[in-house]
Amino acid sequence: MNKVITRFAPSPTGNLHIGGCRTLLYNWLYAKKNNGQIILRIEDTDRDRSTIEATKNIIESIEWLGLQCDGITVYQKDNILNHQGVVQKLLNDGKAYYCYCSEDELLDMRENALKNKSTTMYNNKWRDKTPTKNDLKTKPTVRIKTPLSGITVIKDHVQGEVIYNNKDLDDFILLRSDGTPTYLLASAVDDYDLGITHIIRGDDHLNNAARQATVFDSMGWERPQYTHIPLIHSPDGTKLSKRDGALSVLEYKEDGFLPIAILNYLLRLGWSYGDLEYFTINEMILYFDLNNIHRSPARFDKTKLLNINTHYLREETETNLINYISDIENLKFSAEIRSNLEKIIPHLKTKAKTLNELRYLSRYIYSNEFEIPKDVEEEIINKKTREILRVFCDKLKSINQWRLEEIIIITENLLKEEGIKLVEIAKPLRLILTGAIVPTGIYELIYALGKNITHERISSYLLK
Ligand code: GLU
Repeated sequence: MNKVITRFAPSPTGNLHIGGCRTLLYNWLYAKKNNGQIILRIEDTDRDRSTIEATKNIIESIEWLGLQCDGITVYQKDNILNHQGVVQKLLNDGKAYYCYCSEDELLDMRENALKNKSTTMYNNKWRDKTPTKNDLKTKPTVRIKTPLSGITVIKDHVQGEVIYNNKDLDDFILLRSDGTPTYLLASAVDDYDLGITHIIRGDDHLNNAARQATVFDSMGWERPQYTHIPLIHSPDGTKLSKRDGALSVLEYKEDGFLPIAILNYLLRLGWSYGDLEYFTINEMILYFDLNNIHRSPARFDKTKLLNINTHYLREETETNLINYISDIENLKFSAEIRSNLEKIIPHLKTKAKTLNELRYLSRYIYSNEFEIPKDVEEEIINKKTREILRVFCDKLKSINQWRLEEIIIITENLLKEEGIKLVEIAKPLRLILTGAIVPTGIYELIYALGKNITHERISSYLLK
């Protein structure tokens, strides 16, 4: 068998969404599994709708997910001469023809077809007609001659054998009247030129496969293998909307999701391997198989994605989590702050569902720009508390070896001396040290903040 070459072929008309990512993932995994290649091809022949921002968004999303493609990125508009060359060959071989229909004529044909419940919208007017001098004044499109009878069979790894009656397939346009190629042509020609062996994409393209197969057949090219994956639907089975989770991948990044969580969720949204729930990238590559792709549409479930993210947040190393937080905050942490974060994150990562929540819960470690809410302050800090805090601060200073045990000892001594309970000092301390009532043990909190910062925050509070 030829070396496997897959491709991810997004149109840069918008940001990369969750459905596109799943297509990318499946193509990427299939290529890796077979020691093959995956090519990124930006399908930018539609000049009016393609944008540089969308291209950037696609590339950035791919990098963030860690699904880099092989070799150089192909920009479809650079291949227009190839597309036109193929059309010229089809014209020379009598397998394509010029169509001189005006827009109005085409609209009439369409209306008639709809009225007569015809399965084709174009009536083949120019298939065997020679233009007059007058016709030649119109800039023609070029259409392919689809076979008039018989069937086209698409063998698909998910959909099985899909049979199309050729009489239902239009002689579709290959080149527009301005000479630019249509998606149906450009995509087929590029797939051939790039040696694509497997096309894996959403099943909204299944009908296009029948048409693109006509280009392959007319040129005498061997067709690639097809896999059309059922689309992702919303929880109620309708088209996935933004509200249901059809966000761009980078929006998930902003919301504090981990790439590995997104990849695991997408992998199992349409594919499964027994009951296995979580996969490393290597396991994904090892087990991925086109035959296990589900035949029915998957339903997007944001809660499930959040649960998977929670799982991976707990699995993630402290160092990686700190790197993510520093990335989100766009801050370079000092060695001291890093070491402080390392102490607190094991306690916090079990309480957060997203990186944003983790960042929120740990931000007091690297920032003292927080406000102490007045009402809470009035409720839990009075004159007596201030005095006790002053003594506590002095005791802290006397600690030589900064260890959790030492902090516990000096605090317990203080409680005994003052005849108070831990909560009476823990609540005010939390408030002064973090600006909030954070869900962390007070000793762990003080230990993580370090002697200097703890001392400095309490004493400057007491000066106010
Ligand atoms: N450019 C097409 C799209 O973004 C995909 C084409 C293909 O995979 O053949 O929907």
